[in-house]
Amino acid sequence: MSTATPQKFEFQAEIKQLLDIVIHSLYTEKEIFVRELVSNASDALEKLRHTQLTEKEIFDDKLELEINVTTDDQAKTLTIQDFGVGMTRAELVDNLGTIAHSGSKAFLQALGEGGQKNANLIGQFGVGFYSAFMVAKSVRVYSRSWRAAEPGHVWSSDGSGSYEIEPSEGERRGAKIVIQLKDDCAEFSREGRIKEILERYSAFVSFPINLNGKRVNTIQALWLRNKNEIKEEEYTEFYKFQAHAFDEPRLRLHFSADAPLAINALLFVPKENSEKLGFARLEPAVSLYCRKVLIDAKPKDLLPEWLRFLKGVVDSEDLPLNISRETMQDKALLDKLGKVITKRFLKFLDEEARNRPDAYAEFHREFGVFLKEGAALDFAHKDQLVKLLRFESSLTEKGKTTSLGDYVTRMGSEQKEIFYLVGPNRAAIESGPYLEGFRARNLEVLFCYEAVDEYVMNNVREFDGKRLTAADHADVKLPDLPKPPEGALSAEDTAKLTAWLKETLGERVAEVKASDRLVDSPALALNADKFMSPHMRRMMKAMNKDGADTPLRVNLEINPRSAVMQRLFATHTAAPDRAKLVAEQILDNALISAGLLDDATPMVARLYKLLENV
Ligand code: ADP
Ligand code: MG
Repeated sequence: MSTATPQKFEFQAEIKQLLDIVIHSLYTEKEIFVRELVSNASDALEKLRHTQLTEKEIFDDKLELEINVTTDDQAKTLTIQDFGVGMTRAELVDNLGTIAHSGSKAFLQALGEGGQKNANLIGQFGVGFYSAFMVAKSVRVYSRSWRAAEPGHVWSSDGSGSYEIEPSEGERRGAKIVIQLKDDCAEFSREGRIKEILERYSAFVSFPINLNGKRVNTIQALWLRNKNEIKEEEYTEFYKFQAHAFDEPRLRLHFSADAPLAINALLFVPKENSEKLGFARLEPAVSLYCRKVLIDAKPKDLLPEWLRFLKGVVDSEDLPLNISRETMQDKALLDKLGKVITKRFLKFLDEEARNRPDAYAEFHREFGVFLKEGAALDFAHKDQLVKLLRFESSLTEKGKTTSLGDYVTRMGSEQKEIFYLVGPNRAAIESGPYLEGFRARNLEVLFCYEAVDEYVMNNVREFDGKRLTAADHADVKLPDLPKPPEGALSAEDTAKLTAWLKETLGERVAEVKASDRLVDSPALALNADKFMSPHMRRMMKAMNKDGADTPLRVNLEINPRSAVMQRLFATHTAAPDRAKLVAEQILDNALISAGLLDDATPMVARLYKLLENV
């Protein structure tokens, strides 16, 4: 084989097709070619390291295993050199002239499947070495193999159908790729621009990367190291770097798995929930790596939506570098990866909740809203998520919470449902009229303070076979109180009074009846509308959505045991005019407690009228 003179080769037909698309694409994120070339360099160094273990004789054996990147903005060139395995002449032909490797093949296949000229595919597939032609007028690859007997060569092409190979004297081991940039891509010969790209995609490449002589990648791929050897500060520094964060992480999960996929993951929960602070909705932020090279910084389909508060890194060597979300096979792989990570994270939270309940409670206060979102919407993980939820209750102290599991252990054998009340805070729920009937019967009620709670409870529906029931729902039936209190209105008088109240209050009430849930308060109002709780109505009103103006229909429940009702019963025949004012005032009071009074103006006028009689 004569190798002394330049020899011209035609690219394989598929490569021609590929190059044609790459060169003429208007794909905007051309910078990914740097990632592709650096990852090739890193692969070549990795291969050399293996070769060193098995081969005695290696050309240029004293060379550092490093990657040197140089920019020249005068000449508009970018050079990426590694001291890896390099390529022989035959390898240059095979590797850079034919399509033997997976990424580019898959790319062409996707194009064949109807994605013709879809520039976005380039970003998804990377298209490896050939992506250099997005920015290059010409590419020269100087290479010398580790095999001492093989001389050096230079491969060159302008990407238009053919390439040349000729001998090249004085080459070091490895490959040096020199890119002569197109005029409109001159930015890639600026040091600052390349630095930024290297920091983004290649920060964790394990071989040193020097840019114009200065080391760029000083942060290690912490997730691949042994947990026991990593200091707390290293984790924190890594978190800040990787998540672009300024706080310290609240929780950390560092794990690896071999089956069903090889995974190394390092996940963080930040100190604060920025969504809660009013910042924009979080974007997925667990970056996907394959052997330390970034595949996707914000993979959308990796983890479920409700895990968008997680930061960190997932690295799987089972992923192809140029993984695509489009092909079914790759999508299945991503799904599988996401499932494993989600499952592991849920297990971790469960352990945290048991082993460090106080820290977990703080986590829940900050991030519980995401768990609730998941419990309501992510059917696959609902059961585990519901177990992780925490609520204050009528039996906890202020600020302390309980799980649904613990609630169930406290339930009496009679109790079939789990009760909850939604309200703005503990004081509001405790001073409202709804709780007292449950208290008197020793029934625990969960307190829900967050806007989403009602929605979550409605979606979750049940826990451990017990229905989740709003304690202020009109349908709730409570067992009889043990002892009938003294001085209460008789059943007959109560019936007279409720009939009179219904007549007097007219359209404002759907129904008036005696209550089994009141102990001290004279009356309470229950929304007769099954599908809209008082809380939801308030929210709708605040958001000014449809439904805010649906006429309010309430059931008024009165307490025959209360002194007010006893007085009213006496007054309603003796002084009917005054009794009417009192009745209306009682209804308004009940509406206020329920958060249902829309307009307080008539009430003020009426109160003055009542006060005239003092
Ligand atoms: P992939 O990396 O997916 O195999 P590429 O298009 O990026 O596809 O590279 C094609 C092939 O060229 C590689 O598999 C490798 O054999 C060879 N190659 C590319 N860059 C280098 C390099 N810097 N050193 C040695 N071989 C290389
Ligand atoms: Mg590659």
